[in-house]
Amino acid sequence: MTSTADEDVVTTSAPVLEVAGVTKRFPGTVALDDVSFSLRRGEVHALVGENGAGKSTLIKVLTGVYRPDEGEIRHLGAPVGFRRPIDAQRAGISTIYQEVNLVPLMSIASNVFLGREPRTRAGLVDWAKLNADARELLKGYGIEADVRRPLHTLGVGAQQMVALARAVSTDAGVVVMDEPTSSLEPREVDTLFEVLARLHAEGIAVIYVSHRLDELYRVCDSVTVLRDGKVVHSGPLKPLPRIELVSMMLGREIRQIRAEGVTAFGEEHHAEREPLLRAENLSGGHKLHDVSVSVRPGEVVGLAGLLGSGRSETARALVGAFPLDGGTVLVAGKPLKRGRIAAAMRAGIALLAEDRKADGIIPNLSVRENIVLAALPSLSTLGFVNRAKQDRVVKTFMDRLRIKAASPEQKVSELSGGNQQKVLLARWLATGPKILLLDEPTRGIDVGAKAEVQALIDELAREGLAVLLISSELEELLDGADRVVVLRDGSVAGELTGEAITEDNVLAAIAAGGDDGH
Ligand code: ADP
Ligand code: MG
Repeated sequence: MTSTADEDVVTTSAPVLEVAGVTKRFPGTVALDDVSFSLRRGEVHALVGENGAGKSTLIKVLTGVYRPDEGEIRHLGAPVGFRRPIDAQRAGISTIYQEVNLVPLMSIASNVFLGREPRTRAGLVDWAKLNADARELLKGYGIEADVRRPLHTLGVGAQQMVALARAVSTDAGVVVMDEPTSSLEPREVDTLFEVLARLHAEGIAVIYVSHRLDELYRVCDSVTVLRDGKVVHSGPLKPLPRIELVSMMLGREIRQIRAEGVTAFGEEHHAEREPLLRAENLSGGHKLHDVSVSVRPGEVVGLAGLLGSGRSETARALVGAFPLDGGTVLVAGKPLKRGRIAAAMRAGIALLAEDRKADGIIPNLSVRENIVLAALPSLSTLGFVNRAKQDRVVKTFMDRLRIKAASPEQKVSELSGGNQQKVLLARWLATGPKILLLDEPTRGIDVGAKAEVQALIDELAREGLAVLLISSELEELLDGADRVVVLRDGSVAGELTGEAITEDNVLAAIAAGGDDGH
């Protein structure tokens, strides 16, 4: 994948797949806006962009899940109109989604040959041949398990390998992978990369969606960067400096490129105070590696990084909601029992999780009920809810956060996104936390509510709360944080304080590292 001889092949052969001027609209959104790019035989093509950039939509258009509103897709030079995923599959375009789309109760071998089982002369499924072929094929994918066992007995990573084996063995000319390594163990990642090298040698083209820069530079030949549904760059990957790639993904201009490997510099604002929250060497699976971070009372510490860099996992680990293999979380110097959410709450840590729909708001309950939920134990006496006390708390926070609702009894689902987010914030503030972890607190809310939430975060910190702020919006961190810790691929890549918290420095820390020379 890296030799220059190969690059000649890549640039001179005709495209297997072309996307020409494709536009795809959803109500209120242009998910793809005049997107064009082409994929050549044997190339591993990275598709990158932040959340909502249009990557999944593009894949779905390519594989017949969606029809483009405008533009066309050409396969081996000829326009195609896939109506269903099976059409794309028949044309040799196979997709491996994050969620494996196989049949868990069927045997591993049957999953590989589903719909194209070898037959005996009598027309029956030739099980002996099917199992033997599957065994032989899967060996190349690092799977040595008994292929007659049901698929679900394999780990998620191994199941993904089976999906890949299936895809490749259907004479695929193009394999599309949407974040393939996010559920793989390190050993499986190595196997996947070996498989990619083999696909490359066989002339199979791969579209590879991932946020892990190290990985991209290791396995990809070219890259297409999407932002807000538009292609902002398409070309060879290796000559492209990481910082340029990152700034294109995030939509930032680089005014001045700093040397890579930014580490702690700048003055320490809160150095005089002991950290209230300290996490030491948090490690969990392949998502977190030795992450250490601390927050002092009155300090807002920002966590920066690309999607998948381990920001949310870190926040969840701090409240015991992400399984750790190693590391310690200390509050006021006292270690917390690992994996105990209740213990973290008792110690005064509150987490406002990223996805308020899945992880927070209970749509059928009232504003009042949603607010008091987490604080209920302290608002009850001998198991009976003290309604007067409850109403006081609800009123206090509705006023303070300026929650716009007809009354506390209004269903929370009837409020705007911004007000729902404030309700969630109120829920956690009502528990009287000393440490507040905020994961994307302003995502998806309107500008007015956003400014209010940002001002509130400031105010809470001034009152002495220790705040950890995760945000994908650089401005929010640049404006709101006293210190910024940058994560990359599950590790701390740098830390910036005071004057050193600049856009360029954060980008440089996100982009630095690796052994590809950038
Ligand atoms: P990515 O995979 O890069 O995160 P997506 O392709 O999922 O981005 O989304 C691109 C944009 O299209 C987003 O604004 C998203 O909200 C919107 N979108 C995606 N799928 C749908 C859908 N089925 N209905 C409405 N909007 C959608
Ligand atoms: Mg996606």
